Amino acid sequence: MTAAIIDGKAFAAGLRARIATEVAALADRGIKPGLAVVLVGEDPASQVYVRSKGRMTVEVGMASFEHRLPATTPEVELLALIARLNADPAVNGILVQLPLPRHLNEAAVINAIAPEKDVDGFHILNVGRLATGQRAMVPCTPLGCLMLLRDRLGDLAGKRAVVIGRSNIVGKPMAQLLLRDNATVTVAHSRTADLPALCREADILVAAVGRAEFVKGNWIRPGATVIDVGINRTEAGLVGDVDFTSALPVAGAITPVPGGVGPMTIACLLANTLTATARANGLPDPEGLTP
Ligand code: NAD
Repeated sequence: MTAAIIDGKAFAAGLRARIATEVAALADRGIKPGLAVVLVGEDPASQVYVRSKGRMTVEVGMASFEHRLPATTPEVELLALIARLNADPAVNGILVQLPLPRHLNEAAVINAIAPEKDVDGFHILNVGRLATGQRAMVPCTPLGCLMLLRDRLGDLAGKRAVVIGRSNIVGKPMAQLLLRDNATVTVAHSRTADLPALCREADILVAAVGRAEFVKGNWIRPGATVIDVGINRTEAGLVGDVDFTSALPVAGAITPVPGGVGPMTIACLLANTLTATARANGLPDPEGLTP
């Protein structure tokens, strides 16, 4: 038996098409969603991300505002820009591209964003709202993973989920979302004992480790659904955190890298921007874009 390939690229394209339809409907009411992306410094990977975010924002009919600041920008200047964007009615979503140069306090910068415009879902209020089951802005990558899992498995209630990785960006919010969907969730990390045995218990295995081909096929429960969040640049090209070749004959379904979780992240950023716009205008949340 070979695992079904979960086509995140196609799913994300469908999601963007739906978002574009909703944006067109908002235009009839004179509303145009706007997303501001702030990039500090010249990190090459970040530049690539920011460029494709801007392109896809425009493609779905939203306004894209890009702010590129030098790596030496003082924190007060960055905070002043965020304050202007917070007050700007044309801006519904604000994203500060991470990582920031080391002299900037990442938490202080993120927490300066108005929570209702925090489309990355990293503001402490949104983290707390997600954890307590209140209406939040939800981090894009785990939201994309959740959409793929629901699409594949339907109801996640009672499923055993193992999330490898406890970062604030992926692992922790992923665990919260799975918990919210009534899965039984274990978060594994660098100090977890006997990780392979733990993984073998999982109906749902989410790998967000940042180590190339770390999860082996014999760690996977036969028939499990495997979500590979990893993006690792190797000499052989882009690979995930899961050893795809050995996982393929064991898993029930698996996301490829590239073409799995990656495209879902930007699509969910646009989804969050649409949701933020709807909320800012007193409209109901667009269906299926929030957890
Ligand atoms: P991170 O470095 O912040 O966190 C990695 C986590 O893995 C940590 O919590 C750590 O405890 C755990 N870990 C490290 N070594 C381990 C080990 N030996 N055993 C078990 N756990 C271990 O990374 P992150 O920001 O969460 O990202 C994880 C991966 O996902 C990276 O490859 C990153 O590039 C990728 N990523 C992809 C997207 C996307 O859009 N697809 C978005 C964000 C991150």
